[in-house]
Amino acid sequence: MIPPAFEYLRPKTIPEAIAFLQQYGEDAKILSGGQSLIPMMKLRIARPAYLVDINRISGLSYIKEDGGFLKIGGLTREAELESSPLVQSKYPILLDTAHVIADPQVRNLATVGGNLAHGDPANDHPATMLALGAQIVATGSGGERIIPIEEFFLSLFSTALQPGEILTEIRVPVSTARSGGAYFKLERKVGDFATAAVAAQVTMDANGTVQKVGIALTNDGPTPIKAKKAEDFLRGKKLDEANIQQAGQLAADEAQPSSDLRGPAEYKKGLVKELAKRALSRAAERTGK
Ligand SMILES: Cc1cc2nc3c(=O)[nH]c(=O)nc-3n(C[C@H](O)[C@H](O)[C@H](O)COP(=O)(O)OP(=O)(O)OC[C@H]3O[C@@H](n4cnc5c(N)ncnc54)[C@H](O)[C@@H]3O)c2cc1C
Repeated sequence: MIPPAFEYLRPKTIPEAIAFLQQYGEDAKILSGGQSLIPMMKLRIARPAYLVDINRISGLSYIKEDGGFLKIGGLTREAELESSPLVQSKYPILLDTAHVIADPQVRNLATVGGNLAHGDPANDHPATMLALGAQIVATGSGGERIIPIEEFFLSLFSTALQPGEILTEIRVPVSTARSGGAYFKLERKVGDFATAAVAAQVTMDANGTVQKVGIALTNDGPTPIKAKKAEDFLRGKKLDEANIQQAGQLAADEAQPSSDLRGPAEYKKGLVKELAKRALSRAAERTGK
């Protein structure tokens, strides 16, 4: 299908892009990898009159550690995340996540910023970033502002980004000693969105008990869900089989899936329990590496 007609704008700088977004307001949409926006336009679910293509803006694609954070430029492609030696060596949860997003063709274009800005609870990065306790950098006419990831996802396809703002960077706290994370997803076939998926990130203290923990769920409600009861339960405890089992049950209790073509709600809750156990076990293994 061919999308409806639109004006195509190609700013070379962030201020130029922001000026276009301000000028055209709700009639304008940012175009990054186009892997969600273009299909929506083809299906007439989105009909922006102006597309502000930010792909020609230099300096928006990078992966580096700086000032206590892993900084990921908003325009960084999934394929770049996968091939980053830094991500491969220190942030395996990000590698797990990028690997299961769509297929290699999509990942060559799709951006991490677009994945989050789209506000789709079925997307994979939102839960991972919730588990990691990330921050979002939004740039608008007034400069930059930082949005904690817990305040970013408001409702289905709705985020805390204001009109005229561009998601320019994602900040993940630098991986410290005795930290590990993992993302487990069940999909009907390779390339599909999650039937359910769970992200888990843990940091152990010197005594082998959980100091910090983040657990979050994909495609289990109108927004990605932070499994706070499971997190609270695990803090200060050993990551042994019994505690992991109990945390998996608590995460499943917090899931709010609906029954659909991917399966009945009860089945999805069962999946969350199993995937949470697997993600926590793998995260625990990785704390030793
Ligand atoms: C066949 C297929 C399978 C897929 N499977 C998966 C999957 O398994 N898991 C998964 O997570 N995703 C999946 N997706 C969705 C897609 O990968 C993501 O939504 C994509 O990463 C979005 O990024 P993008 O750069 O393509 O964004 P775009 O499509 O360009 O934009 C998406 C939305 O975000 C806005 N936006 C984009 N960038 C910014 C920015 N920097 N600042 C502010 N707003 C911005 C746009 O205006 C638009 O509203 C799939 C897509 C396809 C086509």
